[in-house]
Amino acid sequence: MNNTTTIFDKILSKEIPAEIVFENDTVLAFKDINPQAPIHVLFIPKIRINTINEIKDSQSELVGQLFLAARDYAKELSVAEEGYRVVMNCNEHGQQTVFHIHLHFLAGRQMNWPPG
Ligand code: AMP
Repeated sequence: MNNTTTIFDKILSKEIPAEIVFENDTVLAFKDINPQAPIHVLFIPKIRINTINEIKDSQSELVGQLFLAARDYAKELSVAEEGYRVVMNCNEHGQQTVFHIHLHFLAGRQMNWPPG
């Protein structure tokens, strides 16, 4: 996997706009440009990790922060009780298209299982 710039690097550097809904020292969250649910937000680490396969053992806390930010966002939007889905796609079979790990946060409608 190469290290060419992704669209998310450009969002992080504010080169291209995004509807940012959350930011702290390590995590940025913004609305997905092609939402698959009434609420569809992407939580990304501020440092580049291409895929789940490249996550280092030492980065477990950073990955955990994506989930904690999603948890807090669900509470903030009052969807925690009705529920939501978080997904991280990996490589071709997972249909990953942007090679900077991101947690999809989907809410506001009934989800189906299994996914297509
Ligand atoms: P994935 O297919 O799991 O890699 O997800 C990439 C996601 O990034 C898709 O849901 C896209 O709609 C979303 N996306 C791509 N470009 C942008 C952008 N400029 N702003 C917000 N979301 C984007």
